[in-house]
Amino acid sequence: MPDPRRSTPRTDTVLADPRLRQASDRLGSALVKAVVADALDRCRAGLVPPGSVADAAVAALPATATTLRRVINATGVLVHTNLGRAPLSAAATDAVRMAAGASDVELDLVTGRRGRRGEGALTALQARVPKAGGVHVVNNGAAALSLVTMVLTRRPTGAGGTVVIARGELVEIGDGFRIPELLESVGARLREVGTTNRVRLEDYASALDEDTAFVLKVHPSNFTVTGFTSSVPVSELARLGVPVVVDIGSGLLAPHPRLPAEPDAATALRDGASLVTASGDKLLGGPQCGLLLGNAELVERLRRDPFARALRVDKLTLAALEATLIGPESPVAVALGRRVEALRVRAHDLTDALPPELRAEVVDSDGAVGGGGAPGVTLPSCAVALPARLATALRAGDPPVVGRIMEGRLLLDLFAVAPEEDADLVAALTAATIAGRANGSGPT
Ligand SMILES: *Cc1c(COP(=O)(O)O)cnc(C)c1O
Repeated sequence: MPDPRRSTPRTDTVLADPRLRQASDRLGSALVKAVVADALDRCRAGLVPPGSVADAAVAALPATATTLRRVINATGVLVHTNLGRAPLSAAATDAVRMAAGASDVELDLVTGRRGRRGEGALTALQARVPKAGGVHVVNNGAAALSLVTMVLTRRPTGAGGTVVIARGELVEIGDGFRIPELLESVGARLREVGTTNRVRLEDYASALDEDTAFVLKVHPSNFTVTGFTSSVPVSELARLGVPVVVDIGSGLLAPHPRLPAEPDAATALRDGASLVTASGDKLLGGPQCGLLLGNAELVERLRRDPFARALRVDKLTLAALEATLIGPESPVAVALGRRVEALRVRAHDLTDALPPELRAEVVDSDGAVGGGGAPGVTLPSCAVALPARLATALRAGDPPVVGRIMEGRLLLDLFAVAPEEDADLVAALTAATIAGRANGSGPT
């Protein structure tokens, strides 16, 4: 056996391969060098024959110059925070690619003068929610709420104004992000009313004084309280005579028939909210951004505030948002409209296409909106059940597939998987099975 270290090609020789030279132009030479160095290491370890180092490096090149990978979301959670929330539509993706170059994001091409930044996206948002006198877009839902709170509670001297909020709506969104802490971090004082499970209009009314900046209603977007409960609807809060800000969280612009309990911007404004805040990348199905809708003068005040600049969205976001608002249904909306019968047919087709040794089985499952929307709502879905040990190999595959483990089995839930991805799922599972055979591990 010849010593692989002696026959390992030189780095320069491998890098001279035309495919790798092209890759350097496309992905950057640092990235290609690192991939080649890794292939050379594998050659020295005897894992790659010396004559195949360039081939191995080409095969290991990433598609783009980012460590982010496209993932197939087979978790059954539609808006998955760890997977980047809403997947963008093809229309939004095309818009992002176009806007990536120089674009007229802040230029009026007719007059040649400066234009309103993101005019198209803002007009599209307002058209979708005609009740909103004004609209503005910032970086995310938390930024929208921060801007409202900072501007409306700001006082020339002394402590900031108070935000009146029900104790049952002091929500932690996730990863330690707590709405009350956010409000305090921008200078607001909280005036908590009611108890964990119940609050009445009188509780709010008796908390109001000259320090009150606004009443805040927050959608408890990731939990439900059942039993002896009561909360005060926006229509009643609107009678208190102070601004009512509603953080609907999930970003439905209008009621959704499959999610009857989920709040939406149009209804909140019709019921008398002064302002509504929401995320753009939850149920709206768009890019990460924060939507502000409502009273025209208030929105203008927020937009003109110096701090608004620190929360400004970029051209890519504006392009994707506009395309989401005016383009075809977003992938999130399409998934919400899918019937379980259709999912079941796909699950059977998938199962039939898989290596029999996997003993894949079609099972009914519960899909969820996730990501701070429709808490407690399960949507009937269908999954392919597989041996749990496949989870690791599938996450390491190309593209990686993320499912969920339930009762000792790996479920690949089709609720959030587009039909176009089914072929990739079969390929990923077949590759994982072959890798499993090579490792000598059985199907269970
Ligand atoms: C998700 C959510 C937020 C935070 O929005 P981000 O876009 O994640 O910043 C705030 N409030 C509610 C009710 C939410 O559901």
